[in-house]
Parts: sequence; structure tokens; C-alpha cells
Amino acid sequence: TLQGRLAATFKNLRGKAKLSDADIDATAREIRIALLEADVNLSVVKEFIAAVKERATGSEVSEALNPSQQIIKIVNEELIRILGGDTRTIRFAKKPPTVIMLAGLQGAGKTTLAGKLAHWLKSEGHSPLLVAADLQRPNAVTQLQVVAQRAGVHGFAPEPGNGVGDPIQVARASMGEAERRLYDVVIVDTAGRLGVDETLMKQAADIKAAVNPDEVLFVVDAMIGQDAVNTAQAFATGVGFDGVVLTKLDGDARGGAALSIARVIGKPIMFASSGEGLKDFDVFHPERMASRILGMGDMLTLIEQAEKTFDEEQSRRAAAKISSKGGTEFGLGDFLEQMKAVRRMGPLSKIFGMLPGMGDLKDQIANIDEKEVDRIEAIILSMTPAERDDPRILNGSRRARIAKGSGRSVSDVNQLVDRFFEARKMMSQLANGQMPAGMPGMPG
Ligand code: GDP
Ligand code: MG
Repeated sequence: TLQGRLAATFKNLRGKAKLSDADIDATAREIRIALLEADVNLSVVKEFIAAVKERATGSEVSEALNPSQQIIKIVNEELIRILGGDTRTIRFAKKPPTVIMLAGLQGAGKTTLAGKLAHWLKSEGHSPLLVAADLQRPNAVTQLQVVAQRAGVHGFAPEPGNGVGDPIQVARASMGEAERRLYDVVIVDTAGRLGVDETLMKQAADIKAAVNPDEVLFVVDAMIGQDAVNTAQAFATGVGFDGVVLTKLDGDARGGAALSIARVIGKPIMFASSGEGLKDFDVFHPERMASRILGMGDMLTLIEQAEKTFDEEQSRRAAAKISSKGGTEFGLGDFLEQMKAVRRMGPLSKIFGMLPGMGDLKDQIANIDEKEVDRIEAIILSMTPAERDDPRILNGSRRARIAKGSGRSVSDVNQLVDRFFEARKMMSQLANGQMPAGMPGMPG
């Protein structure tokens, strides 16, 4: 497992203060093997390893964490990123009913999922209708009716045994039923086959054309490993879908399929099913899946705490420095740390968006340039520690060197230094209980 492999390499990192390139290579090798063993698609593995290596080698190394914690943090964040980052849930139609169509191979768990989805939607205050557009197997219709009953919702299906054989007609008729009876969500269950074939794709595509769904969900058994990607690809081209549902996560599926599908197909995993019961169902959370793959939940909590405590300590130190005489102990390195601490809270626009009464300012907020922080960081990182500690030593030739090193212009460097001196002066005055001079509307 990924956890087992990582644990072995971490033994070697113990007691080391910094990660060497060899350490990073060795760790990357183990992660690579673990991911391939877990059935993760090769191209996804390559991308993943490259990202982890780059970040572990790069300058983001945090003082709050020891080397193995740093690697775990990076691996975890990259797992989350590859799994799609944020949770995405159903997009409801502006004008009901919202139509959700399920597609996938036979036995993937579509009909079971239809019941779970209906049950969940009902608990969220919707009134879903379950539609049996699977007339392939003799008892498919009965199965759907049983599932609907268990979920406490209505099922729409032709009477079994009366010879009705066209799932497309059933699907189309269900739209009228939903409008008449005011169901606000229609879940269309379709037939699957054991393998990908043209008849299956055509039928699914025809049903899709007939009901024009708001969401097509591709349902896939997580236990089928590498095949999940191929099947997903076939459905993506043959039918087209908006999101993925992983089923049978209660088995010993290693999650490799999950990692691969989201990335290779570029569609988010929206729900996860982990058993046969109605309750064995959840909105898919990338961070939870990452933690499951990594198998280090406790460690992740520890890392979070370590970083938080470190942040607090750091801001206390920064505050002490700024209240020193004239604030001169507060250098550009501290400035950068503070800026990054603010940035860790999320994009500026998001922070502003959360403040009450700031809604009207949206347009102005959209103009805040997040990249500005990156530019400033590049300039500060191109300075020597002595220059960061005391920017007063920055003469013309030093500024020219820094500009070159950071890929910015000398005037960018000048501007940053000027702004820093101004900000430091103002902060230090504030910290010492003085009203900064030149503050608008304030008596000097
Ligand atoms: P469909 O052919 O895609 O409609 O698949 P079904 O919904 O009929 O499910 C096929 C089988 O898998 C049934 O026996 C289900 O009970 C079972 N099943 C579905 N989802 C899960 C799951 O998440 N975990 C487990 N263990 N079994 C599941
Ligand atoms: Mg079925």
C-alpha cells in the first residue's frame, strides 16, 4: 500500500533536518510503485510523481514540519488535486424537473445507486421519480420498483410482462409524468451490458437524446481497477457524461481507479457508494478519498495542528519585531512570511467575499491581482538573507542583481522596497500606539 511504502522510506528520513535530492528520489520511487500497484493509470502516476518531486525540491519547504511530514503533506495535497479538488454535486435545472441519467456496465450498481440517490434527494427536500429505462433483463423493472419502494419514492416503469420493450419510449414518457405530477427530479436508470458494445452505447445515447438530461452520471465499480479507465473512456466518447459515481468502495478496492478516472477523463467524481444499503452512499469528498488512499488520517491532523501552531508563533514573533524601535528588526523575510500567511487563508477575493456587506464590491474585488503576491515573492527570494533582514543596504547594483534574478524590472524592485518601508513605518507606528502620519481623515 501507499501507506506501507511511505512508512518504510520515512524510517530513513528520521532525524534528518532537511530533505536531500536522494531522499526525494527514493520517496518518489516508492510512491510510484505503490500507485502502480493500486492500479493507477501510468500517465496519472507520472504526472503525480513529477508534481510531488517539484514541490518537495522547491522553496515551499515549511519550517513547521519535519521532512516526512512535509512529504506526507505534499502527497496528500497532490492526491486531493488529482481527485478533482473540490466536491461537486448535482446541478439542478433552473426549470424543473432536473433530469439525471445513469449509465454504465451491467452490475456496476446503477439500479442500487438510483435508489440511494432518490433517497438522498428526498431527504434534501426533493421529490424524485425513478424511471426504469432498463428493459434488458427480465426482472429489471421489478428490481427498480423494489428499489423505489425501499427508498420511499415513486417508480415509473412499464408493467412487467406486457411486452413493452422500448426503453427510449419509457424514458420519454417519464418526462410527461414528471411534469404532470410535479416531480422535481427524474432519475433515469438505464440498461448495462457486461462489456462495452455498440448496441449498449447507441441505446444510452438515444435515451440521452430523448430526455436531454441535466446530468449524466457514469457509474463504475471501483473494484475493476485499470479497466475502469477504459470503460469510462468508451462511455465518454460513446455517450458523454458529466460526472462519475464510484461503487463498491466497501470492497478492497485500492482507489487507483478513482484516482485515474477523474484525471484521465477530466470529469469529477460526484458520489461514492460503499455497500448495498440505502445509507451506504455519500457525496464524494476528494480530501476524504485522499486520506483513505494515503491511510494516514491521524498524521494529517497532526500536520495541520503543527502548521497552525507555527503560524501563531510566527505572527507573535513578527509582532514583537514590528514594535521594536522604528520597526527596523522587521525585515523583508518577515514581510514575505506575513503575506504568505494571509494568502494561505485563500484567495483574497474569497476572503472579501465572506465578509458581510462586501457583496457590492464584487467587481472591484475581481480586480485584485493574486499574481502580485507571486511577483513580490520572486523578488524577495532573489535577495540574500542580509538584504532581506535589512533592506537599507540595497544599493543600485544590488537592486539590479535582484531584478535580474527574479525576472522583474529594477523599477519593480524599487517599488517593492519603497512600499515595504512605508508599510513598516506605518505598522510600527500603529504597534506603538501612535496615529500614523498622513492617514486620511486623521489628525497628523
Ligand atoms: P446495475 O446492473 O448497474 O443496475 O447494478 P445493480 O444495482 O443491480 O448492482 C449489482 C450488484 O452489486 C447488486 O448485487 C448490488 O447489491 C451490488 N452493489 C451495488 N452497489 C454496491 C456497493 O456499493 N457495494 C457492494 N458491496 N455491493 C453493491
Ligand atoms: Mg440495473
